[in-house]
Amino acid sequence: MTQGRYANIIIDISHEKVDRTFQYKIPKELDGKIEAGMCVQIPFGAGSHLRQGYVIEVTDKAEFPDEKQKEVAGIVTGSMSVETDAIKLAAWMKENYGSTMIAALKTVLPVKQTMKHREKKKITRLLSVEETRSVLGECIRKHQRAKARVLAELCREPVLPCELVTGRLNVAAATLKSLQTQGIISIESESYYRNPVKLETAREAGLVLSKEQADIKDKVLLDFDQGTRKTYLIHGITGSGKTEVYLSLIEGMIERGKQCIMLIPEIALTYQTLLRFYKRFGDRVSVMNSTLSVGEKFDQWERARKGELDVIIGPRSALFVPFPDLGLIIMDEEHENSYKSETMPRYHARETARYLAQMKQASLVLGSATPSLEAYYRAKQGDYELFTLNRRLTGGKLAEVSVVDLRQELKSGNRSIFSRKLQELIEDRLRKKEQIMLFLNRRGYAGFVSCRACGYVMKCPHCDVSLSQHMGGKMVCHYCGYETRQPEKCPSCSSPYLLGFKAGTQQIEQQLYKQFPGIRVLRMDGDTTRTKDSYQKILSAFAEGEADVLVGTQMIVKGHDFPNVTLAGVLAADLSLNDNDYRAGERTFQLLTQAVGRAGRGEKAGVAVIQTYRPDHYSIVKAAGQNYEAFYEEEILYRELGSYPPAAHMMAVLVTAAQEEKGEKLAGQLAVLAKDLWKEEKAKAAVIGPARASIGKINDIYRFVIYCKAFDYGQLILIKDKIEQYLQSLALKEENVQFDFDPVNTL
Ligand code: ADP
Ligand code: ZN
Ligand code: ZN
Repeated sequence: MTQGRYANIIIDISHEKVDRTFQYKIPKELDGKIEAGMCVQIPFGAGSHLRQGYVIEVTDKAEFPDEKQKEVAGIVTGSMSVETDAIKLAAWMKENYGSTMIAALKTVLPVKQTMKHREKKKITRLLSVEETRSVLGECIRKHQRAKARVLAELCREPVLPCELVTGRLNVAAATLKSLQTQGIISIESESYYRNPVKLETAREAGLVLSKEQADIKDKVLLDFDQGTRKTYLIHGITGSGKTEVYLSLIEGMIERGKQCIMLIPEIALTYQTLLRFYKRFGDRVSVMNSTLSVGEKFDQWERARKGELDVIIGPRSALFVPFPDLGLIIMDEEHENSYKSETMPRYHARETARYLAQMKQASLVLGSATPSLEAYYRAKQGDYELFTLNRRLTGGKLAEVSVVDLRQELKSGNRSIFSRKLQELIEDRLRKKEQIMLFLNRRGYAGFVSCRACGYVMKCPHCDVSLSQHMGGKMVCHYCGYETRQPEKCPSCSSPYLLGFKAGTQQIEQQLYKQFPGIRVLRMDGDTTRTKDSYQKILSAFAEGEADVLVGTQMIVKGHDFPNVTLAGVLAADLSLNDNDYRAGERTFQLLTQAVGRAGRGEKAGVAVIQTYRPDHYSIVKAAGQNYEAFYEEEILYRELGSYPPAAHMMAVLVTAAQEEKGEKLAGQLAVLAKDLWKEEKAKAAVIGPARASIGKINDIYRFVIYCKAFDYGQLILIKDKIEQYLQSLALKEENVQFDFDPVNTL
């Protein structure tokens, strides 16, 4: 492998023009020292400035005469060498999602190599449980909430990983210091923490699995032992024991000497969940998340590579942790949109995990309470093996759900944003000192226009999507560019109350104060969660009973369990139905199912109220009935009729330019190119657009979009490749083109 006199190198510059390998001669002093995957320094460009690059291949085949070849200047020390696997993975991502090779490589590699070890610490309780309880009581009286949080945990667990306490439990280092000086806890560092004998005692064995759980575990491991590698989908409501199955599968893999990647969306990486993994696998497990510094990330990689870890938990980037002998990838909450990257390459972790699993001979397990249409479709087609868990193992019944028709409310003279039913229930809960979650189903931008009297939403006559409100009383279709003026009256019922829907969480909060004097409200939305810790802070405060109501956007439907919440209200369930893309129904169903599931997690029974203008829409009806299967059947019909994913594949081509005309012109050219290509190939598919993107301008950059739909993914890649070639021939400076395959959000 290290034989050869030449190195083919990808230069570390993200630009289409240099997105190919360049050949360099390997000088005598580096003979035999350079191998594929290494990061090296090379002279590049007219000035022969030193640049970094990645060696893709070492070869004896000269691409051009020796005397013309520049030499590799040196190896970048301390760098991580890119395994051939990583290069393969990057190449696959480049091909399937459209990006430069260097952007793909950077996605699968840790960005920087500066090593900075953070000490790993653990906290040990020094007092007995009784003594700790009494200190805890004192802290509660003194309103020392952070201290109380740690102490409450320490009553349950004698030893806690420090990172978990400062991170997920949101306790400041100073607070811990103070507990230490008081002699209540001790804080010890890494070497001690890593002592396996000590940890054994803190470890906890798994629960005895139920028959349904054990069946899943046995089947996956049996397949594995017999050399069968598959993708499995576990469809199970929250609390049905999926995580317990994951834990037992990981255990099985560890027994077999394999490592596992556990993907969990960052927002669902709660303290309780992490603790379960720590308790089960001790310091053989580590967490990756966005708060880690580059140095820390690199550290994790090194630990994984050296065999110090068996499990890594994290969001989609955890997929790229280089385990020597990967056996299993688990992807919890498989339907989450955060599994799709929003930057180039716009990869989806599910598909990437599948490719990685194939490459590494690993199994793949997906889990969700509301599987994505993609996953369920594949399961139905027999590509994935489907398992169902439909029992809550800790009791706690599913909430009783009522659907309230907002049109009727207005008719009966109720102009409040709360229906009469919801008002009654709120009052009742306030009396009983139980907690409430109110949830606004809103995705922020694209304000559509609807009628307050009948709920009618202005739609594009050509596309069956809602029109978006633009400046100057205009409404525009983001799929086809159709444009019209906003009418004076509702076309359906002639009411003059037309509204660009923007009613936000803040208005709801104010309305609560007005209608329920003395009510204590916490609000969680984009505004209140700007700083890094605010998200955790709000959730902790609510968990500790500092408020009666938590009002928020979709952020609040995930993660934390609040046993005292017995009422969940969805204020305008159909808002997300009006998102102008084909996933609106699916997203609505998922959000409602999750929202409804927030009530009644504890001992007390829960009730949920869904307020809507469209009580008959299948997404709402099926969510209220908590019937996934029935929802799927309706939704897949719609996808098949419209040739939307997963029935077909879709590629969005996003063109951006500082000058509007230039962007428009290029988008037009690319659309023609794509259409011509279809003609030549006589393939059956559609090219839609170009149209203005749903956010037409960001930072003074204009955005245009073309959509291509095809049954065969390969056909889309064909178009993408053709567009890439064409762009290279143009050598554009100002315009930029990006691809998004099977997009999860409207561009
Ligand atoms: P999910 O991941 O589907 O939400 P969990 O695995 O977290 O479900 O399980 C929900 C609850 O049920 C947890 O409190 C867990 O401890 C408990 N549980 C899970 N499996 C079992 C089992 N086999 N026996 C008893 N309790 C269980
Ligand atoms: Zn349209
Ligand atoms: Zn109307």
